[in-house]
Amino acid sequence: MCRHLGYLGPPVPLKDLLFDPPHALATQAWAPRDMRGGGTVNADGFGVGWWPPGAAAPVRHRSAMPIWTDASLPLLAAATSAGAVLAAVRSATVGMPVVETAAAPFTDGRWLFSHNGVVRGWPSAVAAQARDLPVEDLLTLDAPTDSAILWAMVRARLRAGEPPAKAVATVVTEVAAAAPGSRLNLLLSDGRQMIATTLGHALSARSLRDSTLISSEPLDPGPAWQPVPDGRLVVATAGRLEITSL
Ligand code: GLN
Repeated sequence: MCRHLGYLGPPVPLKDLLFDPPHALATQAWAPRDMRGGGTVNADGFGVGWWPPGAAAPVRHRSAMPIWTDASLPLLAAATSAGAVLAAVRSATVGMPVVETAAAPFTDGRWLFSHNGVVRGWPSAVAAQARDLPVEDLLTLDAPTDSAILWAMVRARLRAGEPPAKAVATVVTEVAAAAPGSRLNLLLSDGRQMIATTLGHALSARSLRDSTLISSEPLDPGPAWQPVPDGRLVVATAGRLEITSL
């Protein structure tokens, strides 16, 4: 069920997250170890976004193809460094389209967003909540998927000025109540802070002196990785990690 990661810290080549570690995101795409609740490989697209130094908005590249089939990506990932990165590989939920625009990260302004999981009973289970969104947002949804509507819900709250941790936690709590059994691991960043949730899926975090890495599965066997228990809200900046109950 999709894998995602977020990094904040000193600039690193994208390949240090996507390709080089023994259990890099590209490896998690075809050999994930902890796919709770369905799916075996993450071959239905991928996306990577990063904030170039000084840029107001992130750069994003995504595709409907498996990450290992993008012949240009390894060179791009070796030549591009960033101090803030959010990337994902997708395993489409049955019934949802396999298209580039359904792959995370979703973006708006300085934000990047990813969802690992499923909204049970989609779309009817969240129809009442979707009704509160501006019609324009519904008409311009990235794709007809549960992840895209979750992003529209979070984005509407961010645009209304809600603090990001509150926006993410509220959407997770409300959707979990409306659609019981949903799996809602969300990941949001503006390149300075990261907000993540665990509800139904794996997540690990590694916070070092000046960097923080959050990932569905640890990228290497290093001792600094800590599993994030279920039902948590993670708020992180480079080198700082705060984990509370949702
Ligand atoms: N349900 C979402 C989709 O199909 C996310 C999939 C996942 O986490 N596997 O895009």
